[in-house]
Amino acid sequence: MKKGKLIVFSAPSGAGKTTLVRYALEKLDHIKFSISCTTRDKREGEVHGKDYYFLTPEEFKRKISNDEFVEHEEVYRDNFYGTLKSEVDRITSEGNSVIFDIDVIGALNIKNLYGEQCLTVFVNPPSLDVLKERLISRNTESEDKLKQRIDKAGIEMEKAKEFDIILLNDDLETAKAKTLEIITDFIK
Ligand code: 5GP
Repeated sequence: MKKGKLIVFSAPSGAGKTTLVRYALEKLDHIKFSISCTTRDKREGEVHGKDYYFLTPEEFKRKISNDEFVEHEEVYRDNFYGTLKSEVDRITSEGNSVIFDIDVIGALNIKNLYGEQCLTVFVNPPSLDVLKERLISRNTESEDKLKQRIDKAGIEMEKAKEFDIILLNDDLETAKAKTLEIITDFIK
């Protein structure tokens, strides 16, 4: 059986990576989503075990002590996120490739661990202003959280050059098509 590959999508919050990852999952066979753990609050419509494993800080810390994460991070103040080893093993052992929606630091950590088996894709928003508008209109964050996300976006965009591929998301349909092309090409 062919060894599964790892495809990591990363971007500042609001750049549209989750939309692109969902689209790829809908359209392509043999790629499965790595469900991360998080300690942040569940948003409306999110499902435990589908979007994330929503954990208490204590549960999250226990998993750190038990060495259950491939990588984990405090992405925003008091909000921890982590990729489970068991997710990567579960998906690759079925002969499928894994797709991740994780932050920039986590993405580069995974690339360091898996090298050629892993492709990192940075989804670039057209500009910081467009990103701000998208985040504000999404209306999922408190003002403080929104500011944290916008502040972090600038720092994240500076890391884009360390990724294998930069995918500009100014037109969603074009970005969707490009997403399928990039993944298909990498997993073939
Ligand atoms: P959100 O709260 O909007 O779902 O995600 C916030 C940020 O955390 C996003 O950039 C998302 O990609 C990232 N993230 C989600 N899961 C993980 C993970 O397992 N590890 C890391 N490092 N970041 C993650």
